[in-house]
Amino acid sequence: MSAHIIDGKAFSAKVRSKIADKVSALKSAHGITPGLAVVLVGSDPASQVYVRSKGKQTVEAGMNSFEHKLDADTPEDVLLALIDDLNADDSVHGILVQLPLPGHLDETQVINRIAPEKDVDGFCIANVGLLGTGQKSMVPCTPLGCLLMLRDYHGSLSGKNAVVIGRSNIVGKPMAQLLLNDSCTVTIAHSRTQDLAEVVRGADIVVAAVGRPEMVPGDWIKPGATVIDVGINRIDTEDGKTRLVGDVDYDSCAAVAGAITPVPGGVGPMTIACLLANTVTACCRINNLAEDDFLS
Ligand code: NAD
Repeated sequence: MSAHIIDGKAFSAKVRSKIADKVSALKSAHGITPGLAVVLVGSDPASQVYVRSKGKQTVEAGMNSFEHKLDADTPEDVLLALIDDLNADDSVHGILVQLPLPGHLDETQVINRIAPEKDVDGFCIANVGLLGTGQKSMVPCTPLGCLLMLRDYHGSLSGKNAVVIGRSNIVGKPMAQLLLNDSCTVTIAHSRTQDLAEVVRGADIVVAAVGRPEMVPGDWIKPGATVIDVGINRIDTEDGKTRLVGDVDYDSCAAVAGAITPVPGGVGPMTIACLLANTVTACCRINNLAEDDFLS
């Protein structure tokens, strides 16, 4: 068997085009332009690349992009005051503070300062609680991207056995919650899980979010299962270069799975698309506008 490749790049382009249509409709019908503010503290090179890419795609979708770059030694009260200003700014509908923050800043405190309705990363306690109780919330972008790809491929996920490997607050836990909300039977596996291979072998859907290069081999995968690889790992190659790989061993898993996301070109491109989607959703909710399901 050779797996269907779930092309996150192509799918995210479709999602972004629907977002652009919705933005254009908001502008013409209501004179409102959704705005996303991204706050970067310090000059971590990977974070700078992400922030640039987010800004570019925000503008391409017709939205306003506001970038706030602060020095690495910015005191916490200055960062919190900026968040207060953005919370009060009517032209800003989404606020994202790029993580990780420099060590002297308290991430929990900072994230929870963002007004829940503008928390487009979905990381603040209020949104975590809303998602956990199946209510309308801001949903973390990476798990949302995985869910949209799964729904697009499968239609209904109801009754499927899903195994999420990884229990982080930003990927594993919200992913499990989303799958549960879509009526999957969900197992969360982690670093202390015993006989992980056997746990994964029972899954119709495997989501790997670990951060360990190629740790899931093909013989853990049930024939025909769907494999979503969230991992982004840079490994050294023999010719002295580096290469991006996921958390699953792509070739052996693709030989057994029914469908699989590649790395790169799978989950990654969907994350920013979902950030844009969350900003539009936030804009509709803040302005009491009909929040039709513009992604379906
Ligand atoms: P994390 O380090 O916060 O969490 C990793 C999780 O993996 C932990 O819960 C841990 O229990 C589990 N784990 C570690 N070793 C394990 C083992 N041997 N067996 C089973 N579970 C094990 O990482 P994260 O932030 O959740 O990110 C996970 C991966 O996803 C990373 O590679 C990260 O770069 C990637 N990521 C990608 C995107 C994207 O847009 N594609 C977004 C976020 C994270």
